[in-house]
Amino acid sequence: MRIETVAVHAGVQVDPATGAVTPAIHPSTTFERDPDGSFPHGHIYARSSAPNRAALEASLTALEGGADAVAFASASAATSAVFLSLAPGDHVVAPVDAYYGTGKLLREIYAGWGLAATFVDMTDLGAVEKAVRPTTRLVWAESPSNPLWKVSDLSRIGAIARAAGARLVVDNTTATPILQSPFKAGADLIVHATTKYLGGHSDVLGGIVVARERGSLLERLRTIQTAGGAVPSPFDCWLVLRGIRTLPYRVRAQSEHALKVATFLDAHPRVERVHYPGLPSNPGHEVARRQMAMFGGMLSVQIHGGAETAMAVAAKVRLFTRATSFGGTESLMEHRASIEGPGTTTPANLLRVSIGLEHPDDLIEDFSQALA
Ligand SMILES: *Cc1c(COP(=O)(O)O)cnc(C)c1O
Repeated sequence: MRIETVAVHAGVQVDPATGAVTPAIHPSTTFERDPDGSFPHGHIYARSSAPNRAALEASLTALEGGADAVAFASASAATSAVFLSLAPGDHVVAPVDAYYGTGKLLREIYAGWGLAATFVDMTDLGAVEKAVRPTTRLVWAESPSNPLWKVSDLSRIGAIARAAGARLVVDNTTATPILQSPFKAGADLIVHATTKYLGGHSDVLGGIVVARERGSLLERLRTIQTAGGAVPSPFDCWLVLRGIRTLPYRVRAQSEHALKVATFLDAHPRVERVHYPGLPSNPGHEVARRQMAMFGGMLSVQIHGGAETAMAVAAKVRLFTRATSFGGTESLMEHRASIEGPGTTTPANLLRVSIGLEHPDDLIEDFSQALA
């Protein structure tokens, strides 16, 4: 089946009790036992499993082509679960430009727990290879990466991980299952912030880990989910599943529009540099063409001048909302260095842009007046 069909149907069926076409939200925390003690519908207590969560997990499993998925209350909880599946003394190789919260978890929480981490530029395969130690159990990759949308070669990173006897985990949030299939590149686990494109409407926080195969790692993640308890609510799961139904069409439009906006900005005299893997001049373009179906809805732009000049542009746009996060229907713009604070390596004149579903010509006209 094609991914559009999977997005509409996986995890969703007409309710046999009512004929309802749209899935119900089941807030029940507890489920009835048969007289013989069995649970005919498979659910006992909502921390262990629940109908809306099972539906969401089935959908992501099908979208990524995995064996099973484990949903969490946020991607940070999902990321944390992956690190908890390791043991103190283990070593992780992670991208220096990993999602801010992922780096923070490793540095400020798991380091104290005994997990060692080396942060490298994942576009430099030699650096990845050099970072591997005998205790390396996990290589974490994220492509395209925030906020410069650098593209790393997942197949080759996967080969390095395999040779080291380590697992490859790919945070596939920015690419989504529509543009990139990390299991084909050898990933063992895929992590998503369902908060972004999967939910797609900036109204739900969630995370999920999809496992390529059944086995002890998946079981460990399931135990961390059910015993740890950082589970998403039925309504959260329902919202994400609703978002997924239109995911392929949203992501394709956002990718198409992002390329148009990036091309416009790239030719603008007030623009110093555009970071978008879809531009042929981008250093990651060739790998992105091999690895991705399209180039995604995220781009960053550096305006000639400093932080004030960039912030003046962000103050002048009318259609872009100045806010963090991404993947919703509305376009967002963010002055990245000020949100990252002191010590950031993000250029002071950089604006990060999430392309929504507005007409691309309106977005281009808005940028045009803001840059005038
Ligand atoms: C937003 C994001 C996360 C964290 O998601 P939360 O649901 O806010 O915890 C992790 N990885 C990437 C790439 C993200 O963009």
